[in-house]
Amino acid sequence: MSGRLEGRKILITGAGSGIGRETARLFAREGAKLALLDRDAAEAEKTAKETGGSFHQIDVTDEAKVAQVVGEAADALGGIDGVLNSAGILTMKTMDDIGVEEFRRVVDVNLTGTFLVCHAALPWLRKEPKAAIVNIASAQALLPSLTGSAYAAAKAGVMMFSKSIAKELAPDVRVNVICPGATETPMTDQGVAADDVAGRKALADIYAMKRLAQPHEIANGILFLMSEEASAVTGVALPIDNGRTFH
Ligand code: NAP
Repeated sequence: MSGRLEGRKILITGAGSGIGRETARLFAREGAKLALLDRDAAEAEKTAKETGGSFHQIDVTDEAKVAQVVGEAADALGGIDGVLNSAGILTMKTMDDIGVEEFRRVVDVNLTGTFLVCHAALPWLRKEPKAAIVNIASAQALLPSLTGSAYAAAKAGVMMFSKSIAKELAPDVRVNVICPGATETPMTDQGVAADDVAGRKALADIYAMKRLAQPHEIANGILFLMSEEASAVTGVALPIDNGRTFH
């Protein structure tokens, strides 16, 4: 199939790396016009060159900057009918070694950043008949254990925020959330280095399928939820986690 996002106008945060970048590639192949947002403007620009989108530097925790950049993205796209919040940061620190500053930062980027982008995009989304938001939580939101508590708590917040606004925004805007398991991206390298063979095997062994996901496998789920194939789907948290959270 192709053209599943033909004519759509979609903003992606975290578009300069990992899942956000891979989803941008897939969305472009499916016909969407894209605005690509990231803290790292140079990386967002690379994604933009590949996909034909516009790129915008953003810190999703900065309310004024988010409002400004979402407005610029809407101008570039001619409106907004889709938002993917993929910007996020990881911490592996536990209660014994995390300080309040880092705890706040993890909640701020993952949860408050998701809120700010959704909030700023809402006036445009509400004008569009196919409007949809997809947020990225984590399998840690469903079954914590692999990362630090701050990350798990922030992602559980993203999941419940998404379900909650799915109710508030229906029937105007569909809102769904993906809960990925460990996926081969720079973020996972940060947790367990790619060349740490024993560490990577121990990580893979946690999953029923005994492997990590590839970014395109997460992107496929995001595409479904963003497209009209999911026109009757809202408020869903979809795990794409190689079978960790069902067992
Ligand atoms: P990634 O490769 O690290 O990409 C995340 C992107 O978000 C990076 O480009 C990062 O920029 C950007 N970002 C971070 N803080 C930002 C901020 N304040 N404002 C704007 N952009 C910011 O990670 P990923 O694996 O693709 O993760 C994408 C999403 O999936 C995240 O929400 C993550 O928590 C979630 N997730 C990932 C996994 C996994 O195993 N990879 C599993 C479950 C959930 P910098 O590089 O400058 O930090």
